[in-house]
Amino acid sequence: MAEREAVTPDSISTLIYVDMRGETGGYRTDLLKEQVSETMRKFIICSKCDGISKETKITESKTFCRNCTEGRGGEVDGRVDGLVRELKCRCPLSTRGCDWSGKLHNIEEHMNGCDKVKIKCQIGCGEVLQKCDTIDHQKECSFRIQECEYCKENVRANQANEHIRLCEHHPDGVVTCPYMEVGCDTIEIARKNLETHITQNVVGHQKLLLHELNQLRTENKQLRADNEQLRVTNERHEQSIQSHELSIQSNSLFLQSREQSIRSNNLYLQSHEQSIQSHEQFIQSHEQSIQSHEQSIQSLMSTARFYY
Ligand SMILES: [Zn+2]
Ligand SMILES: [Zn+2]
Ligand SMILES: [Zn+2]
Ligand SMILES: [Zn+2]
Ligand SMILES: [Zn+2]
Repeated sequence: MAEREAVTPDSISTLIYVDMRGETGGYRTDLLKEQVSETMRKFIICSKCDGISKETKITESKTFCRNCTEGRGGEVDGRVDGLVRELKCRCPLSTRGCDWSGKLHNIEEHMNGCDKVKIKCQIGCGEVLQKCDTIDHQKECSFRIQECEYCKENVRANQANEHIRLCEHHPDGVVTCPYMEVGCDTIEIARKNLETHITQNVVGHQKLLLHELNQLRTENKQLRADNEQLRVTNERHEQSIQSHELSIQSNSLFLQSREQSIRSNNLYLQSHEQSIQSHEQFIQSHEQSIQSHEQSIQSLMSTARFYY
């Protein structure tokens, strides 16, 4: 069974190293299986992180692990590391039941395979569980994929109920009574129960059908009447359109004749204007001849006065 209280997977480095603000120092001292002498402790414990030193450098007679000497000079002291490698230790997860013990230099290899380490479910449900529980968990993980035996579709376990409802082949899939259209109120029923519902409700379904039939008949009658009325209205409209067309035709004939008469009137007016012009010219020439006659009369009269 997965342990529910765990929310994050174990990081191997926090299990076996002293954590130095996100980096890692020496090995945790509580990994040691046997007591070591005080002299030995001074020799193998890092002065900065209090972890069991790894890749030790000794500066001013003090032991530092590699992570705590980053950036400093000094040579790695192989003697310390030789001692440290041979120290006997237990698995940091002995409290969870891992009974591994061995030499410190094997601990990383062990942690990579230790089945008490907590990891996140690989299928994807997000649960954190011990490696040793994964096989059992995979059988019950809410994200495991199962094949629907009726439609062969792959379905996630936590969506199986919803799938069954909608599955088109599952006997527990939800269907509606085909007589719902005519008023049967069995709107949702398991596919496997539909046949029984239909056989048990023959009379009820027939009543619904009959009622529907009568209603359709009435509607049909009404539709026919509406149709007839529409036909009559349509006919009337067509007649009125025809008479409008005739009146348009006669109007256009009348307009044509008006145009012709206007045109002939125009011609008549033009010829009158011409005759007026020629009359005016005739009058002018007469006036001129009158003037010249008057002049000749005057000259005759003055000649006569001269003689009398
Ligand atoms: Zn250190
Ligand atoms: Zn272990
Ligand atoms: Zn899972
Ligand atoms: Zn299915
Ligand atoms: Zn029904």
